Amino acid sequence: MTHWDEDKRARPLVGQYIETLKPYVPGKPIEELRRERGIQGEILKLASNENPLGPSPLALEAARAALLEGHLYPDGAAFVLRNRLSEYLGVDMARIVSGNGSNELLELIVRTFATSADHAIVSEHSFIVYRIILKSMNVPFTVVPAAADMGHDLVAMARAARSNTRLVFVANPNNPTGTYNGRAELEAMLSILAERPDPPLVVMDEAYFEFADAEDYPDSSRYQGLYPRIVALRTFSKCYGMASFRVGYAVATEEVAGYLHRVRAPFNTNRIGQLAAAAAVDDEDFLRRTLELNRVERARVSAALSDMGLEVVPTQANFVLCRTPLLASDLYDKLLDRGIIVRPLDGYALDHHVRISFGTPPQNNRLIEALREVLSP
Ligand SMILES: *Cc1c(COP(=O)(O)O)cnc(C)c1O
Repeated sequence: MTHWDEDKRARPLVGQYIETLKPYVPGKPIEELRRERGIQGEILKLASNENPLGPSPLALEAARAALLEGHLYPDGAAFVLRNRLSEYLGVDMARIVSGNGSNELLELIVRTFATSADHAIVSEHSFIVYRIILKSMNVPFTVVPAAADMGHDLVAMARAARSNTRLVFVANPNNPTGTYNGRAELEAMLSILAERPDPPLVVMDEAYFEFADAEDYPDSSRYQGLYPRIVALRTFSKCYGMASFRVGYAVATEEVAGYLHRVRAPFNTNRIGQLAAAAAVDDEDFLRRTLELNRVERARVSAALSDMGLEVVPTQANFVLCRTPLLASDLYDKLLDRGIIVRPLDGYALDHHVRISFGTPPQNNRLIEALREVLSP
C-alpha cells in the first residue's frame, strides 16, 4: 500500500466549484451560545424565523403516536400528508411532492432540471441557499441586481434569461429582506419568459406564504394554467413551528412533479414529520394564533425599531431586516452578550444589516430594551 502523501488526499478529488464552496451559516444555536459565553439566563433566539409558539399541539400528538412505529420505513409516497394537502389546497395529489424541508426540494429541482451546461437566475439579496446549491452542482448563474426596495426585480430577472436558462429562483416574500412581489409584477415576468422559445422553470419559494397579507400577494400554486413551468415551494418549518421535523412541499404541474418524484430519494421525508405535518394542516386554531401574533408584533416591533433610528425594510414575513449605524457584526456581538441571537447579514454582503425574527410580546420587549441599550450613545 502506498503512503498517503499530499497529492493523495481528498483535495484532488473535488472540482474547483466544490473547493471554493462556502457552506451555509445558520443562526447560532442556543446551546452553542450558552457554551461559548457561559450565559446562565434564558437565551432568546430571534435568528432563524422559527415560530415562537412552538409546534402545533395537534402535530405533537401525531408525532408521539408516530414514534411508536419508528422501526418501520415511512411511506415513501407520503400518502397521508399529500392527500391531506391535496384536500387543503384543492390541488390533485399528483401535483404535490413532499421533501425534507423545502431546502431538499430546491436541491431536487436543480438536480432534476439543470446541468453544468445550463444557466440559472437569482436575485441579489435573496436566500443564499440557491447559490450554494447551484454552485455545488456546478450550474452557472446570474445574480440580478435588487430592486430599489432591496427585493427582486422580476422584470430584470426575466430579461436576464438566456437560451440555456433552465431555472429562475424567486423568494416571495423574500428572505432576508421581507419584501414581496405582487401579482402584476409576477405576471409581467411570466409573460416575458413565456415569449422565449424554451421558457425556464420558475421556482417560487414561498416559505413565508402564510404570513403575507398584502392585497396583491400572488399564490403561485394557482399559476400553472397560465405558465406551466412554475413551482410553488412551501414549508412546515416557519408558520407551523416544525423546523426540526423537516417537511416542505412543492406544488407544480403533474408532469414537473413526476420528474421530481423520479429523482427524489425513496424515503426523503420521515414518518414522524409526515404524520405531524398532516395533523398540523388541520390545526386551524394554531395557525390563526400564529398569524395574529405575527401581525400585531410585526407592526409593533417595526415601529419600535424605526423610533430608535434604525432603517426598517417593510416586511410581509415573520422577521424584519434593518440597517444599523453599527457594523452588523458588532451589534450582533453586543446582543449575544445579552443572551439574544439575531442574524447579522455580512454573509449577504450587507455589513450594516441585521435580520430579526419576531417573538412573543415579552421576547420582543426584551429585544427592544437590549437594542436601546446597545444603540444608546
Ligand atoms: C426557511 C426557508 C426555507 C426553508 O426551509 P426548510 O426548513 O428547508 O423548509 C426556504 N426558503 C426560504 C427563503 C427560507 O427562509
